Amino acid sequence: MKQTVSFTRNAVNVFFHILTRCNLRCRHCYINPAQHGTADLDTETIIAWLKIFHDPAKRSNLIFLGGEPTLHEGLARSVKAAREIGYDSVTIDTNGYLFHDITKQLSPSDVDVFSFSLDGATRQTNDRIRGKGSYERCIAGIRDAVSRGFEASVIYTVSSENAEELPRMVPLLEELGVTRFFIQVIGIRGRSAEEVHASPEHSLQLTRERWLDLVPPVARRAAEAGIRTIYPRVFLEEGEPFECAGNVAENYFIFPNGRVYRCPLCEDYPLHAFAVSENRLVPTGKINESDLFSLAIPEGCVINKLVQDGNIEYDPAGRPRYRIACCLLKDEEIPLTTL
Ligand code: SF4
Ligand code: SF4
Repeated sequence: MKQTVSFTRNAVNVFFHILTRCNLRCRHCYINPAQHGTADLDTETIIAWLKIFHDPAKRSNLIFLGGEPTLHEGLARSVKAAREIGYDSVTIDTNGYLFHDITKQLSPSDVDVFSFSLDGATRQTNDRIRGKGSYERCIAGIRDAVSRGFEASVIYTVSSENAEELPRMVPLLEELGVTRFFIQVIGIRGRSAEEVHASPEHSLQLTRERWLDLVPPVARRAAEAGIRTIYPRVFLEEGEPFECAGNVAENYFIFPNGRVYRCPLCEDYPLHAFAVSENRLVPTGKINESDLFSLAIPEGCVINKLVQDGNIEYDPAGRPRYRIACCLLKDEEIPLTTL
């Protein structure tokens, strides 16, 4: 059954990049050390910052990210601290290498989900994007997590490089015992922005027609196989209202250099709405991303228009053929067995 996941108004979603360091060098990595810093946050600082963003009056969801967060020696301690502070859910996003025996240091009562990034249903495609050997390690990591009773999800970032293999993910996830599937659209950020600028004729993003032909049917098939599947709306339908999560939801994307964004599309620019300074959250001066959220344009999302204009088509009169949804608006296919 399909439903739209509207922005959660009574929740705080904390996307915490505790380092930018990584053992891989994926072709489409959105991490941008020039903008996000290169230092690992020390564990005491992570815990102090976790306290800033937790709101006891709301559901508080925490996602640990990197770089590769399992490279951080203090990850297990930070997860346990987050639970003590009162976070309602804790997710660890990982490339699957699971450093520091993290699945042995933590239990399913500490971590709601280990979320694995895989960008191909085959070794050949995944490793072309994410690096040699990464497919085997990720599959082994998923098997390890599932065998220890953790819930495992997989994130697949769809681009023109791996769209063909998306349907083949469904049987693979079933076989691995993965219960959640996140289909992500490639953003023109970080390293993929470099790639696109170096060769503008090579488009990584799918056309609207290709996206709609491919992604919703695969999501339906995954749900039929018992896998809860979430994917971004990307294109609004005729007459559907546009809403910017920056105006109505509480999402914080935190980086080790103290920058805190409300919108992930802004992360390549010093447009962050807040910064953490001396363990306090401080609003930044004008102009920042918040000044842009309320701008109404016929194309929909204003930041998309500014940073990845190439995904909008116009008619001969110069009117956009469709509007781009907020990148945080998602559709969800729920298995009937879980209703
Ligand atoms: S695993 Fe993640 S952080 Fe590391 S290079 Fe790949 S995309 Fe970037
Ligand atoms: S993606 Fe666009 S609509 Fe969504 S929060 Fe960012 S600026 Fe707002």
